[in-house]
Amino acid sequence: MKVLVAVKNVVDANIKVKLTPEGKLDVSALKKSMNPFDEIATEEAVKLKEKGLAKEVVVVTVGAGKASDVLRVALAMGADRAVFVETETQVEPLLVAKLLQKVVDEEKPDLILTGKQAIDDDCNQVGQMLAALCDMPQATHASNLVLEGSKVRVTREIDGGLETVEVVLPAVVTVDLRLNAPRYVTLPMMMKAKKKPTQIKKATDLGVELKSRIECVAVEMPPSRKTGVIVKSVDELLEKLKNEAKVL
Ligand code: AMP
Repeated sequence: MKVLVAVKNVVDANIKVKLTPEGKLDVSALKKSMNPFDEIATEEAVKLKEKGLAKEVVVVTVGAGKASDVLRVALAMGADRAVFVETETQVEPLLVAKLLQKVVDEEKPDLILTGKQAIDDDCNQVGQMLAALCDMPQATHASNLVLEGSKVRVTREIDGGLETVEVVLPAVVTVDLRLNAPRYVTLPMMMKAKKKPTQIKKATDLGVELKSRIECVAVEMPPSRKTGVIVKSVDELLEKLKNEAKVL
């Protein structure tokens, strides 16, 4: 069985992004790392290989320039090889899905894993759109995944409980936070990953019209929080909760 994992390089979750004085968001110089949900997807694929259930794990990313750095981390985690679909700028989810579809057509994976969402755009779209474009069943937000012959059984956390669904392979599964705890990547693992192959494909050669349909018209920072005060007594706290915060 071949598993294809889609991974994205995003601004590191520990970095606080700031707007420029002109109100623009420029993340080009900020530290990037693998989207946390994609680390979980990669971990799951590597685990399937370690259990002898998957033969090959291929990782793919779509992006410009240094976006491919994320592939080396995925290879260090244990993926066998990588595909980099190189674009000129960062592209929106529909175009990512269309470009990934071309890779799926060529690779013919049995299972495609994506994160449930990228933490930079919070779109939660690519996995679902990819499944539709490839005409494959999809199971989203997996918190458990079990391969059963030609099917995959996926547990999803829903409001107030768990839902278990079964889809026939080939299928797309998008993964949620509680599926696993991704392994820590060490320097020797990164060095070893250098020897693994990465195929580069130019997005412009894949026959996808790279036309953007979404324009970001404004970005705003959330309002800053008021500084806290230390109260001297319980009575004072109750008085403030009642009369200032009006929550009692
Ligand atoms: P999104 O729909 O943008 O929130 O992304 C959902 C998931 O799709 C991510 O967790 C990744 O697995 C995958 N994905 C999104 N953008 C890319 C990209 N540029 N390259 C590869 N995979 C991506």
